[in-house]
Amino acid sequence: MYITDTQTEGPVAVVVGGIQGNEPAGYQAAGGIKTWSINRGTLVTIPRANPVAIQRDTYLNDNGNLNRKFPPGETPTTPLARAIWGVIASYDPDIVINLHSSQGIYEEDVGPDGVGQAIYPTTAPGASEDAVTTAEYMNRYHLDDSFPDYYRFQRGNTIDGTRPYLVHKTDADLGVPGFIVESTRYETSLATRRNWELNIVHHLLDRHGIDRTYES
Ligand SMILES: [Zn+2]
Repeated sequence: MYITDTQTEGPVAVVVGGIQGNEPAGYQAAGGIKTWSINRGTLVTIPRANPVAIQRDTYLNDNGNLNRKFPPGETPTTPLARAIWGVIASYDPDIVINLHSSQGIYEEDVGPDGVGQAIYPTTAPGASEDAVTTAEYMNRYHLDDSFPDYYRFQRGNTIDGTRPYLVHKTDADLGVPGFIVESTRYETSLATRRNWELNIVHHLLDRHGIDRTYES
């Protein structure tokens, strides 16, 4: 994990990548985000949440799907999940973002089934609008004309405390805005997906009062 603490009062954001090892867009984006300078608050990045699965380039690790080990209202069910949740909870975050990629595209008939090109908000106030606004921003500024309309980012369905996933647990246990970010692997390059995810995180953080700063 990486901590960017500005020593200036402000929100606490957590970004998690690589919870599934065959989704490099998320862990590569998070690997960039961990080096960001920000104007205020604290940025906690766990870029490679599932290192064994990343090393093997597999969805699962020896304990199965890491993103099924976070039951809402209960202790996570593996040591790795407990370690990850322990970090997140100890920072009392104001926003939690979990970066993924998917084979297909959410609610589109093109390509394989999947949940890509969508931002899924928790039930916390403002999260849905954050997802809508960020999707619109992406479609306006970061979706090059070579992409057909079905690549347009959407707001995904609302994430509540009904499943044992990291962001569902965020909704149930922390009650703060949380987001699952899903780009699609369907006929996209890794560089494109990584860039989309970087821009989505940038926009979501900006909406929560944390702006990236650049050394001059
Ligand atoms: Zn995933």
